[in-house]
Amino acid sequence: MANIAIVGAGVIGVSCAAFLQRDGHSVTIYDPLPPGEGCSFGNAGSIGPGSVVPLSTPGIVRQAASWIADPDSPLWIDWRYLPRAMPWLARFIAAGASPRINGIAKALRALHADSFTHYRTLLGDDAGSLLNVSGQLYLYESDAAFAKDALGRELRASLGIRSETLNPDEIRQLEPSLKPRFAKAVYLPDSSHCSNPHRLVATIAEDISRNGGRFVRASVKDFEQDAGQVRAIVTDAGRMACDMVVIAAGAWSRRLTGRLGLRIPLESLRGYHVMLPMPETAPKRPLYPLAAKIMMTPMEHGLRIAGTAEIAGLDAPMNERRAAALAKLAKRYFPDMTSDPISVWMGHRPATPDSLPVIGPSSQYRNVMLAFGHGQTGLIGGATTGLLVSDLVASRKPTIDPYPYRASRF
Ligand SMILES: Cc1cc2nc3c(=O)[nH]c(=O)nc-3n(C[C@H](O)[C@H](O)[C@H](O)COP(=O)(O)OP(=O)(O)OC[C@H]3O[C@@H](n4cnc5c(N)ncnc54)[C@H](O)[C@@H]3O)c2cc1C
Repeated sequence: MANIAIVGAGVIGVSCAAFLQRDGHSVTIYDPLPPGEGCSFGNAGSIGPGSVVPLSTPGIVRQAASWIADPDSPLWIDWRYLPRAMPWLARFIAAGASPRINGIAKALRALHADSFTHYRTLLGDDAGSLLNVSGQLYLYESDAAFAKDALGRELRASLGIRSETLNPDEIRQLEPSLKPRFAKAVYLPDSSHCSNPHRLVATIAEDISRNGGRFVRASVKDFEQDAGQVRAIVTDAGRMACDMVVIAAGAWSRRLTGRLGLRIPLESLRGYHVMLPMPETAPKRPLYPLAAKIMMTPMEHGLRIAGTAEIAGLDAPMNERRAAALAKLAKRYFPDMTSDPISVWMGHRPATPDSLPVIGPSSQYRNVMLAFGHGQTGLIGGATTGLLVSDLVASRKPTIDPYPYRASRF
């Protein structure tokens, strides 16, 4: 069995490590942070097998243009960073215009369909307190807004995802605490949510440690290569020999693959959350008002309002104004709620232009596996990614077809 180095202790890295360990491999996970303190810390907790719509769709340029002048809108671009983001943005726009959308949705569906089952395998008895099959509500303020989202409904229907369209009365019955301002909703009954995404990663990590896996608090800087293989990783704590490397460093993965000469387009789509005290009558499930593009999810520590996409790179500081805008938006839907956050957070979504992650072996290095680029759905796709990586390492028939996620598509 192999001695495998995993770079990154987010939901993707720990899921890979846990499944590889189940196959008998010895796993060591490298990260300067404790498990789950990157992007996996603060996501909206949605585990929706129905999340199949890519970020870039045919109307994206018009939509983005309407947002760009408003600093509180769902999208913000730091103009100083724009020249660096341009090549990625060009590919992103092309992905939305292309006839590939149905194929992308199908590949997202494959990755997301059984995530709940695979998380149960990883979480054991803790699954009960972390995962809730609560359904999700997509909310529309007018019939026109509902009509505009036809593509999403068509893609979900074509992939057999169950949904119901609700009128204002039915919305009120499901979510009595929500301000009655919605004309229609789409209810996805098979979706679920995690009540604490950080605890989910920490729980998987604890299990890996109990079974002999090692977590090393170090940053990977480079790789020692020889004859088409990586022989060791070079960290700020020294050189560590290994038989195989899994690169699962989220939005930072491009820096690492760059050291291996791989050119994979990956951008940070920075997102924010604010935690607000739970309203007196707590919502029962993630609520997604499409006009605001925020997800409001009931969690262990309060109501999490998560959203926004900001293109400003990995190094720019957090923009407090973007976080405050989320709290203000939430008040639109829960008017009695305070907009003073308990905490605010910013994280880096690791985004590819076509909304599909990169999963699978590097074509140049026989013993390097890539597992990053999950964008806005890394929690949903985490466990299945881990299983797929372990299938590929074992050379057994993979759980899902790995072809759509290959790095060579770029
Ligand atoms: C506001 C917001 C809401 C979201 N909502 C959802 C949602 O509801 N559902 C969903 O499925 N997804 C959601 N996401 C996306 C999801 O959180 C991410 O796709 C996922 O967390 C990515 O996981 P990861 O393990 O790839 O990255 P991360 O969690 O960022 O982990 C990468 C790790 O690599 C480490 N690292 C980086 N460089 C190095 C190095 N050189 N050496 C060693 N370690 C390194 C980092 O420290 C980090 O811990 C959301 C994201 C945001 C920002």
